[in-house]
Amino acid sequence: MFSLKFGGTSMGNSEAISQTAQIIISHPEPNKVVTVSAMSGVTNLLISAANCATETNKICYKNYLQEIQDKHLTALKKLVNNTDLYRTGEEFITKKISGLSGFLHALTIIGEVSPRSNDEIVSLGEILSAKLLSLHLQDLGEKSDFINLENIVSKMFDKDHTEANKEFFECFAHKLEKLLTPLLEKNITPICTGFFGKIPGGIVATVGRGYSDFTAALIGKACNAKEIQIWTDVNGILSTDPRIVPEAHVIEELSFDEATELANLGAKVIHPQTIWPAVKNNILVRIKNTMSPLDAGTAITKEGKLSTHSFKSITIQKDITIITVRSTTMTESGVLGELFQEFANHKVSIDLVSTSESSISVTIQNENKNKNLQQLITQLEKKFIVNRENNNTIIAIIGNEMRENIGVAGRFLSALSDHKINVRMISQGANQSNISAVISQKDSKNAVQAVHKKFFRI
Ligand code: ADP
Ligand code: ASP
Ligand code: MG
Repeated sequence: MFSLKFGGTSMGNSEAISQTAQIIISHPEPNKVVTVSAMSGVTNLLISAANCATETNKICYKNYLQEIQDKHLTALKKLVNNTDLYRTGEEFITKKISGLSGFLHALTIIGEVSPRSNDEIVSLGEILSAKLLSLHLQDLGEKSDFINLENIVSKMFDKDHTEANKEFFECFAHKLEKLLTPLLEKNITPICTGFFGKIPGGIVATVGRGYSDFTAALIGKACNAKEIQIWTDVNGILSTDPRIVPEAHVIEELSFDEATELANLGAKVIHPQTIWPAVKNNILVRIKNTMSPLDAGTAITKEGKLSTHSFKSITIQKDITIITVRSTTMTESGVLGELFQEFANHKVSIDLVSTSESSISVTIQNENKNKNLQQLITQLEKKFIVNRENNNTIIAIIGNEMRENIGVAGRFLSALSDHKINVRMISQGANQSNISAVISQKDSKNAVQAVHKKFFRI
Protein backbone atom coordinates (compact mmCIF):
# COMPACT_ATOMS: atom_id res chain seq x y z
CA MET A 1 0.00 0.00 0.00
CA PHE A 2 0.94 3.68 -0.26
CA SER A 3 0.37 6.33 2.41
CA LEU A 4 -0.59 9.61 0.70
CA LYS A 5 -0.74 12.93 2.53
CA PHE A 6 -2.23 16.09 1.05
CA GLY A 7 -1.34 19.42 2.68
CA GLY A 8 -3.33 22.61 3.21
CA THR A 9 -2.93 24.04 -0.31
CA SER A 10 -3.82 20.66 -1.86
CA MET A 11 -7.09 21.00 0.10
CA GLY A 12 -7.27 24.80 -0.33
CA ASN A 13 -10.51 25.14 -2.33
CA SER A 14 -12.85 23.08 -4.53
CA GLU A 15 -10.43 23.12 -7.51
CA ALA A 16 -7.52 21.90 -5.38
CA ILE A 17 -9.67 19.20 -3.71
CA SER A 18 -10.88 18.05 -7.11
CA GLN A 19 -7.25 17.79 -8.31
CA THR A 20 -6.36 15.86 -5.13
CA ALA A 21 -9.24 13.45 -5.80
CA GLN A 22 -8.00 12.88 -9.36
CA ILE A 23 -4.52 12.02 -8.06
CA ILE A 24 -6.05 9.49 -5.67
CA ILE A 25 -8.32 7.95 -8.33
CA SER A 26 -5.66 7.69 -11.03
CA HIS A 27 -2.89 6.55 -8.65
CA PRO A 28 -1.15 3.41 -9.94
CA GLU A 29 -1.16 1.79 -6.48
CA PRO A 30 -4.58 0.22 -5.77
CA ASN A 31 -4.24 0.19 -1.96
CA LYS A 32 -3.93 3.67 -0.50
CA VAL A 33 -4.54 5.35 2.82
CA VAL A 34 -5.01 9.11 2.48
CA THR A 35 -4.26 11.69 5.19
CA VAL A 36 -5.29 15.31 4.86
CA SER A 37 -4.50 18.66 6.46
CA ALA A 38 -7.12 21.29 7.07
CA MET A 39 -8.06 23.55 4.12
CA SER A 40 -5.29 26.17 3.93
CA GLY A 41 -5.75 28.97 6.45
CA VAL A 42 -8.36 27.10 8.50
CA THR A 43 -6.05 26.02 11.35
CA ASN A 44 -4.96 29.66 11.73
CA LEU A 45 -8.61 30.79 11.76
CA LEU A 46 -9.41 28.22 14.46
CA ILE A 47 -6.48 29.39 16.60
CA SER A 48 -7.63 33.01 16.14
CA ALA A 49 -11.17 32.02 17.17
CA ALA A 50 -9.81 30.40 20.35
CA ASN A 51 -7.70 33.47 21.17
CA CYS A 52 -10.68 35.72 20.53
CA ALA A 53 -12.91 33.79 22.88
CA THR A 54 -10.48 34.28 25.73
CA GLU A 55 -9.51 37.87 25.02
CA THR A 56 -11.34 41.18 25.36
CA ASN A 57 -13.60 41.15 22.29
CA LYS A 58 -14.93 37.71 23.18
CA ILE A 59 -17.68 37.28 20.62
CA CYS A 60 -15.46 37.93 17.59
CA TYR A 61 -14.90 34.14 17.54
CA LYS A 62 -18.28 33.95 15.82
CA ASN A 63 -16.92 35.79 12.76
CA TYR A 64 -14.10 33.29 12.41
CA LEU A 65 -16.50 30.35 12.70
CA GLN A 66 -18.76 31.91 10.06
CA GLU A 67 -15.79 32.26 7.71
CA ILE A 68 -14.81 28.62 8.24
CA GLN A 69 -18.38 27.41 7.71
CA ASP A 70 -18.78 29.46 4.49
CA LYS A 71 -15.48 28.17 3.12
CA HIS A 72 -16.49 24.53 3.58
CA LEU A 73 -20.09 24.94 2.39
CA THR A 74 -18.89 26.74 -0.76
CA ALA A 75 -16.48 23.89 -1.53
CA LEU A 76 -19.15 21.27 -0.74
CA LYS A 77 -21.56 22.87 -3.21
CA LYS A 78 -18.99 22.63 -6.00
CA LEU A 79 -17.72 19.16 -5.12
CA VAL A 80 -20.86 17.11 -4.32
CA ASN A 81 -23.74 16.74 -6.80
CA ASN A 82 -25.67 13.85 -5.28
CA THR A 83 -28.48 15.36 -3.14
CA ASP A 84 -28.25 12.85 -0.26
CA LEU A 85 -24.46 13.18 -0.04
CA TYR A 86 -24.76 16.97 -0.21
CA ARG A 87 -27.30 17.00 2.66
CA THR A 88 -25.08 14.69 4.72
CA GLY A 89 -22.18 17.10 4.18
CA GLU A 90 -24.19 20.20 4.93
CA GLU A 91 -25.56 18.73 8.15
CA PHE A 92 -22.09 17.51 9.17
CA ILE A 93 -20.45 20.91 8.63
CA THR A 94 -23.16 22.99 10.34
CA LYS A 95 -23.40 20.60 13.31
CA LYS A 96 -19.62 20.59 13.85
CA ILE A 97 -19.44 24.39 13.65
CA SER A 98 -22.30 24.81 16.06
CA GLY A 99 -20.67 22.29 18.46
CA LEU A 100 -17.45 24.31 18.37
CA SER A 101 -19.40 27.51 18.87
CA GLY A 102 -20.79 26.07 22.12
CA PHE A 103 -17.28 25.03 23.18
CA LEU A 104 -15.88 28.52 22.46
CA HIS A 105 -18.75 30.11 24.33
CA ALA A 106 -17.74 28.06 27.38
CA LEU A 107 -14.16 29.30 26.92
CA THR A 108 -15.34 32.93 27.09
CA ILE A 109 -16.41 32.14 30.67
CA ILE A 110 -13.34 30.09 31.65
CA GLY A 111 -11.05 32.74 30.07
CA GLU A 112 -8.11 30.51 29.08
CA VAL A 113 -7.24 27.83 26.50
CA SER A 114 -5.51 24.73 27.88
CA PRO A 115 -3.45 22.57 25.48
CA ARG A 116 -6.33 20.06 25.52
CA SER A 117 -8.95 22.68 24.65
CA ASN A 118 -6.65 24.03 21.96
CA ASP A 119 -6.46 20.55 20.41
CA GLU A 120 -10.23 20.18 20.58
CA ILE A 121 -10.57 23.43 18.61
CA VAL A 122 -7.79 22.79 16.08
CA SER A 123 -9.06 19.25 15.33
CA LEU A 124 -12.06 20.65 13.48
CA GLY A 125 -9.88 21.74 10.52
CA GLU A 126 -8.89 18.19 9.55
CA ILE A 127 -12.30 16.73 10.49
CA LEU A 128 -14.04 19.03 8.01
CA SER A 129 -11.49 18.68 5.18
CA ALA A 130 -11.34 14.86 5.44
CA LYS A 131 -15.14 14.64 5.40
CA LEU A 132 -15.29 16.94 2.37
CA LEU A 133 -12.78 14.88 0.38
CA SER A 134 -14.44 11.56 1.27
CA LEU A 135 -17.87 12.88 0.21
CA HIS A 136 -16.41 14.14 -3.07
CA LEU A 137 -14.80 10.74 -3.75
CA GLN A 138 -18.09 8.99 -2.94
CA ASP A 139 -19.87 11.41 -5.27
CA LEU A 140 -17.46 10.30 -8.01
CA GLY A 141 -18.34 6.66 -7.25
CA GLU A 142 -15.12 5.81 -5.35
CA LYS A 143 -15.14 3.50 -2.33
CA SER A 144 -13.81 5.74 0.44
CA ASP A 145 -14.41 6.17 4.14
CA PHE A 146 -13.96 9.17 6.44
CA ILE A 147 -11.76 8.23 9.41
CA ASN A 148 -11.47 10.53 12.40
CA LEU A 149 -8.20 9.40 13.98
CA GLU A 150 -8.72 11.35 17.17
CA ASN A 151 -11.20 8.74 18.36
CA ILE A 152 -8.62 5.97 18.61
CA VAL A 153 -6.00 8.10 20.30
CA SER A 154 -8.29 9.47 22.98
CA LYS A 155 -9.00 5.89 24.12
CA MET A 156 -5.26 5.16 24.40
CA PHE A 157 -4.59 8.36 26.27
CA ASP A 158 -7.17 7.73 28.94
CA LYS A 159 -5.90 4.21 29.52
CA ASP A 160 -2.19 3.52 29.48
CA HIS A 161 -0.15 6.54 28.49
CA THR A 162 0.92 9.71 30.21
CA GLU A 163 3.64 10.83 27.79
CA ALA A 164 3.66 11.26 23.99
CA ASN A 165 7.00 9.49 23.46
CA LYS A 166 8.17 7.01 20.80
CA GLU A 167 6.61 4.11 22.69
CA PHE A 168 3.25 5.91 22.61
CA PHE A 169 3.52 6.47 18.86
CA GLU A 170 4.58 2.82 18.26
CA CYS A 171 1.44 1.78 20.13
CA PHE A 172 -0.61 4.23 18.08
CA ALA A 173 0.84 2.73 14.86
CA HIS A 174 -0.22 -0.72 16.04
CA LYS A 175 -3.79 0.51 16.56
CA LEU A 176 -3.73 2.18 13.14
CA GLU A 177 -2.78 -1.12 11.51
CA LYS A 178 -5.76 -2.85 13.17
CA LEU A 179 -8.11 -0.05 12.09
CA LEU A 180 -6.95 0.40 8.50
CA THR A 181 -6.11 -3.14 7.31
CA PRO A 182 -9.75 -4.39 7.18
CA LEU A 183 -10.71 -1.34 5.09
CA LEU A 184 -7.85 -1.91 2.65
CA GLU A 185 -8.88 -5.56 2.34
CA LYS A 186 -12.32 -4.38 1.22
CA ASN A 187 -10.68 -2.02 -1.33
CA ILE A 188 -11.93 1.01 0.57
CA THR A 189 -9.65 4.07 0.59
CA PRO A 190 -9.60 5.52 4.13
CA ILE A 191 -9.51 9.34 4.22
CA CYS A 192 -7.91 10.08 7.60
CA THR A 193 -7.73 13.31 9.56
CA GLY A 194 -4.11 14.49 9.84
CA PHE A 195 -5.08 15.56 13.35
CA PHE A 196 -4.80 12.50 15.55
CA GLY A 197 -6.00 13.75 18.76
CA LYS A 198 -5.70 14.55 22.30
CA ILE A 199 -2.30 13.09 23.02
CA PRO A 200 -0.57 13.69 26.36
CA GLY A 201 0.54 17.33 26.41
CA GLY A 202 -1.59 18.23 23.35
CA ILE A 203 -0.66 17.66 19.71
CA VAL A 204 0.06 21.30 18.82
CA ALA A 205 2.21 21.76 21.93
CA THR A 206 4.17 18.49 21.63
CA VAL A 207 4.26 17.55 17.92
CA GLY A 208 3.80 21.11 16.61
CA ARG A 209 2.12 22.61 13.56
CA GLY A 210 2.31 20.63 10.33
CA TYR A 211 1.57 17.40 12.24
CA SER A 212 -0.28 15.74 9.31
CA ASP A 213 3.05 14.75 7.68
CA PHE A 214 3.83 12.79 10.84
CA THR A 215 0.39 11.14 10.78
CA ALA A 216 0.95 9.93 7.22
CA ALA A 217 4.39 8.61 8.19
CA LEU A 218 2.94 6.70 11.16
CA ILE A 219 0.25 5.23 8.88
CA GLY A 220 2.98 4.22 6.42
CA LYS A 221 4.86 2.46 9.19
CA ALA A 222 1.68 0.89 10.60
CA CYS A 223 0.65 -0.64 7.25
CA ASN A 224 4.21 -1.29 6.02
CA ALA A 225 3.75 1.02 3.04
CA LYS A 226 5.87 0.73 -0.10
CA GLU A 227 5.97 4.51 -0.18
CA ILE A 228 4.91 7.53 1.89
CA GLN A 229 4.01 10.39 -0.44
CA ILE A 230 3.76 13.96 0.86
CA TRP A 231 1.77 15.99 -1.71
CA THR A 232 2.29 19.74 -1.36
CA ASP A 233 2.60 23.01 -3.31
CA VAL A 234 6.24 22.79 -4.47
CA ASN A 235 8.02 20.37 -6.82
CA GLY A 236 9.86 18.61 -4.00
CA ILE A 237 12.50 19.57 -1.45
CA LEU A 238 14.37 22.51 -2.89
CA SER A 239 17.90 23.86 -2.50
CA THR A 240 16.39 26.46 -0.17
CA ASP A 241 13.09 28.08 0.76
CA PRO A 242 11.58 29.28 -2.57
CA ARG A 243 10.00 32.27 -0.81
CA ILE A 244 13.54 33.59 -0.31
CA VAL A 245 15.16 32.30 -3.51
CA PRO A 246 12.47 31.75 -6.18
CA GLU A 247 15.06 30.08 -8.48
CA ALA A 248 15.84 27.34 -5.91
CA HIS A 249 16.15 23.92 -7.63
CA VAL A 250 14.61 20.54 -6.77
CA ILE A 251 16.81 18.01 -4.99
CA GLU A 252 16.45 14.63 -6.67
CA GLU A 253 17.28 12.42 -3.69
CA LEU A 254 18.17 12.84 -0.02
CA SER A 255 19.07 10.34 2.68
CA PHE A 256 16.88 9.84 5.75
CA ASP A 257 19.56 11.60 7.84
CA GLU A 258 19.79 14.60 5.53
CA ALA A 259 16.00 15.00 5.42
CA THR A 260 15.80 14.83 9.22
CA GLU A 261 18.52 17.50 9.56
CA LEU A 262 16.78 19.67 6.99
CA ALA A 263 13.42 19.46 8.76
CA ASN A 264 14.97 20.01 12.20
CA LEU A 265 16.90 23.02 10.91
CA GLY A 266 13.76 24.77 9.72
CA ALA A 267 12.71 23.64 6.20
CA LYS A 268 8.94 23.85 6.51
CA VAL A 269 8.28 21.44 3.65
CA ILE A 270 8.31 18.39 5.95
CA HIS A 271 7.60 18.06 9.65
CA PRO A 272 10.73 17.01 11.61
CA GLN A 273 9.05 13.81 12.87
CA THR A 274 8.21 12.55 9.36
CA ILE A 275 11.29 10.45 8.82
CA TRP A 276 11.72 8.22 11.85
CA PRO A 277 8.62 6.07 11.22
CA ALA A 278 9.97 5.42 7.70
CA VAL A 279 13.47 4.49 8.86
CA LYS A 280 12.60 1.30 10.72
CA ASN A 281 10.73 -0.29 7.81
CA ASN A 282 13.01 1.39 5.22
CA ILE A 283 10.07 3.08 3.46
CA LEU A 284 10.77 5.51 0.65
CA VAL A 285 9.34 8.98 1.35
CA ARG A 286 8.53 11.10 -1.71
CA ILE A 287 7.63 14.80 -1.79
CA LYS A 288 5.42 15.70 -4.77
CA ASN A 289 3.54 18.68 -6.17
CA THR A 290 -0.26 18.28 -6.32
CA MET A 291 -0.47 20.84 -9.12
CA SER A 292 2.26 19.12 -11.15
CA PRO A 293 1.82 15.40 -10.45
CA LEU A 294 3.96 14.14 -13.34
CA ASP A 295 7.09 15.73 -11.88
CA ALA A 296 9.22 13.15 -10.06
CA GLY A 297 9.56 15.22 -6.87
CA THR A 298 12.18 14.40 -4.23
CA ALA A 299 12.87 10.87 -3.02
CA ILE A 300 14.06 10.34 0.55
CA THR A 301 15.83 7.01 0.91
CA LYS A 302 18.07 5.22 3.39
CA GLU A 303 21.33 5.96 1.54
CA GLY A 304 20.36 9.06 -0.45
CA LYS A 305 22.45 10.06 -3.45
CA LEU A 306 25.34 12.52 -3.67
CA SER A 307 24.62 15.51 -5.90
CA THR A 308 27.14 17.31 -8.11
CA HIS A 309 27.08 20.32 -5.75
CA SER A 310 29.08 20.88 -2.55
CA PHE A 311 25.97 20.24 -0.42
CA LYS A 312 22.23 19.91 -1.01
CA SER A 313 20.24 22.58 0.78
CA ILE A 314 20.33 25.80 2.82
CA THR A 315 17.93 26.27 5.74
CA ILE A 316 17.17 29.08 8.14
CA GLN A 317 15.63 29.00 11.58
CA LYS A 318 14.51 32.33 12.99
CA ASP A 319 13.70 33.42 16.58
CA ILE A 320 16.93 32.04 18.00
CA THR A 321 18.24 33.26 21.37
CA ILE A 322 21.94 33.00 22.26
CA ILE A 323 22.74 32.43 25.92
CA THR A 324 26.38 33.01 26.84
CA VAL A 325 27.60 31.85 30.23
CA ARG A 326 30.98 33.06 31.54
CA SER A 327 33.06 31.82 34.43
CA THR A 328 36.74 31.51 35.32
CA THR A 329 36.04 27.95 36.46
CA MET A 330 34.49 26.82 33.15
CA THR A 331 37.25 24.30 32.38
CA GLU A 332 37.17 22.68 35.83
CA SER A 333 35.77 19.17 35.79
CA GLY A 334 32.06 18.91 36.46
CA VAL A 335 31.22 22.57 35.69
CA LEU A 336 29.82 21.89 32.22
CA GLY A 337 27.86 18.90 33.55
CA GLU A 338 26.33 21.08 36.26
CA LEU A 339 25.48 23.78 33.73
CA PHE A 340 23.72 21.44 31.30
CA GLN A 341 21.87 19.81 34.19
CA GLU A 342 20.29 23.20 34.95
CA PHE A 343 19.01 23.40 31.35
CA ALA A 344 17.57 19.90 31.70
CA ASN A 345 15.98 20.72 35.07
CA HIS A 346 14.20 23.67 33.47
CA LYS A 347 13.25 21.67 30.36
CA VAL A 348 15.01 24.16 28.10
CA SER A 349 16.40 22.38 25.05
CA ILE A 350 19.64 23.44 23.44
CA ASP A 351 20.44 23.42 19.70
CA LEU A 352 24.01 24.57 19.10
CA VAL A 353 26.90 24.73 21.56
CA SER A 354 30.20 26.57 21.28
CA THR A 355 32.82 26.62 24.04
CA SER A 356 35.99 28.48 24.97
CA GLU A 357 38.24 28.43 28.04
CA SER A 358 36.12 30.97 29.88
CA SER A 359 32.69 30.88 28.29
CA ILE A 360 30.09 28.73 26.67
CA SER A 361 27.39 29.88 24.26
CA VAL A 362 24.29 27.89 23.43
CA THR A 363 21.32 28.60 21.18
CA ILE A 364 17.69 28.16 22.20
CA GLN A 365 14.69 28.11 19.86
CA ASN A 366 11.69 30.43 20.08
CA GLU A 367 11.32 31.66 23.63
CA ASN A 368 7.58 30.99 23.63
CA LYS A 369 8.37 27.31 23.60
CA ASN A 370 10.87 27.77 26.42
CA LYS A 371 8.69 29.35 29.03
CA ASN A 372 11.15 28.50 31.82
CA LEU A 373 14.01 30.42 30.24
CA GLN A 374 13.89 33.40 32.59
CA GLN A 375 13.77 31.10 35.63
CA LEU A 376 16.76 29.19 34.26
CA ILE A 377 18.74 32.40 33.74
CA THR A 378 17.98 33.56 37.28
CA GLN A 379 19.25 30.22 38.57
CA LEU A 380 22.43 30.34 36.42
CA GLU A 381 23.15 33.93 37.52
CA LYS A 382 23.71 32.64 41.04
CA LYS A 383 26.97 31.06 39.79
CA PHE A 384 27.85 32.58 36.41
CA ILE A 385 27.76 35.78 34.38
CA VAL A 386 24.94 35.26 31.92
CA ASN A 387 24.23 37.20 28.74
CA ARG A 388 21.13 36.73 26.58
CA GLU A 389 20.64 37.96 22.97
CA ASN A 390 17.34 37.57 21.13
CA ASN A 391 16.48 37.88 17.43
CA ASN A 392 19.08 35.65 15.86
CA THR A 393 18.88 33.15 13.01
CA ILE A 394 20.65 29.87 12.36
CA ILE A 395 21.63 29.50 8.72
CA ALA A 396 22.74 25.97 7.87
CA ILE A 397 24.04 24.10 4.84
CA ILE A 398 23.14 20.40 4.69
CA GLY A 399 24.37 17.49 2.60
CA ASN A 400 26.58 14.41 2.82
CA GLU A 401 28.64 15.83 -0.09
CA MET A 402 30.49 17.93 2.51
CA ARG A 403 32.34 14.82 3.67
CA GLU A 404 33.98 14.59 0.23
CA ASN A 405 34.47 18.31 -0.54
CA ILE A 406 37.32 20.39 0.87
CA GLY A 407 36.82 24.09 1.61
CA VAL A 408 33.02 24.17 1.87
CA ALA A 409 33.08 25.78 5.33
CA GLY A 410 35.51 28.46 4.11
CA ARG A 411 33.37 29.32 1.10
CA PHE A 412 30.19 29.33 3.23
CA LEU A 413 31.68 31.81 5.68
CA SER A 414 33.20 33.96 2.96
CA ALA A 415 29.77 34.21 1.24
CA LEU A 416 28.55 35.72 4.52
CA SER A 417 31.53 38.00 5.10
CA ASP A 418 31.46 39.23 1.46
CA HIS A 419 28.00 40.61 2.30
CA LYS A 420 29.20 42.09 5.61
CA ILE A 421 27.16 39.60 7.60
CA ASN A 422 28.54 39.09 11.09
CA VAL A 423 28.78 35.44 12.24
CA ARG A 424 28.17 35.02 16.00
CA MET A 425 28.64 31.26 16.36
CA ILE A 426 29.68 28.39 14.08
CA SER A 427 29.00 24.69 14.48
CA GLN A 428 29.82 21.71 12.29
CA GLY A 429 27.78 18.55 12.89
CA ALA A 430 29.97 15.63 13.98
CA ASN A 431 28.68 13.55 11.05
CA GLN A 432 30.00 16.26 8.69
CA SER A 433 26.69 16.60 6.91
CA ASN A 434 25.87 20.12 8.11
CA ILE A 435 27.49 23.40 9.07
CA SER A 436 25.51 26.05 10.94
CA ALA A 437 26.25 29.72 11.57
CA VAL A 438 24.34 32.03 13.88
CA ILE A 439 23.69 35.49 12.46
CA SER A 440 21.46 38.42 13.28
CA GLN A 441 17.83 37.85 12.22
CA LYS A 442 17.82 41.01 10.11
CA ASP A 443 20.49 39.45 7.83
CA SER A 444 18.53 36.21 7.20
CA LYS A 445 17.31 36.88 3.68
CA ASN A 446 20.59 38.40 2.46
CA ALA A 447 22.55 35.52 3.93
CA VAL A 448 20.49 32.79 2.23
CA GLN A 449 20.59 34.59 -1.12
CA ALA A 450 24.35 35.15 -0.84
CA VAL A 451 25.15 31.53 0.05
CA HIS A 452 22.77 30.17 -2.61
CA LYS A 453 24.35 32.38 -5.25
CA LYS A 454 27.89 31.47 -4.25
CA PHE A 455 27.33 27.70 -4.40
CA PHE A 456 24.57 27.24 -6.96
CA ARG A 457 25.33 30.32 -9.08
CA ILE A 458 21.70 31.51 -9.01
P1 ADP B 1 1.61 21.77 3.21
O1 ADP B 1 0.50 22.69 3.54
O2 ADP B 1 1.45 21.05 1.90
O3 ADP B 1 1.99 20.87 4.34
P2 ADP B 1 3.77 23.57 3.89
O4 ADP B 1 3.40 25.00 3.71
O5 ADP B 1 3.77 23.02 5.25
O6 ADP B 1 2.86 22.72 2.90
O7 ADP B 1 5.21 23.29 3.25
C1 ADP B 1 5.48 23.66 1.90
C2 ADP B 1 6.18 25.01 1.87
O8 ADP B 1 7.45 24.87 2.51
C3 ADP B 1 6.54 25.49 0.48
O9 ADP B 1 5.46 26.17 -0.12
C4 ADP B 1 7.73 26.40 0.74
O10 ADP B 1 7.33 27.74 0.83
C5 ADP B 1 8.23 25.98 2.14
N1 ADP B 1 9.66 25.56 2.13
C6 ADP B 1 10.58 26.00 3.03
N2 ADP B 1 11.77 25.44 2.77
C7 ADP B 1 11.62 24.63 1.68
C8 ADP B 1 12.50 23.79 0.93
N3 ADP B 1 13.79 23.64 1.24
N4 ADP B 1 11.97 23.10 -0.10
C9 ADP B 1 10.69 23.23 -0.45
N5 ADP B 1 9.81 24.02 0.22
C10 ADP B 1 10.26 24.72 1.27
N1 ASP C 1 -3.43 22.02 9.64
C1 ASP C 1 -2.35 21.86 10.55
C2 ASP C 1 -1.43 23.08 10.50
O1 ASP C 1 -1.73 24.04 9.78
C3 ASP C 1 -1.62 20.59 10.36
C4 ASP C 1 -0.97 20.36 9.01
O2 ASP C 1 -1.15 21.15 8.08
O3 ASP C 1 -0.25 19.37 8.88
O4 ASP C 1 -0.47 23.10 11.19
MG1 MG D 1 3.21 21.15 6.07
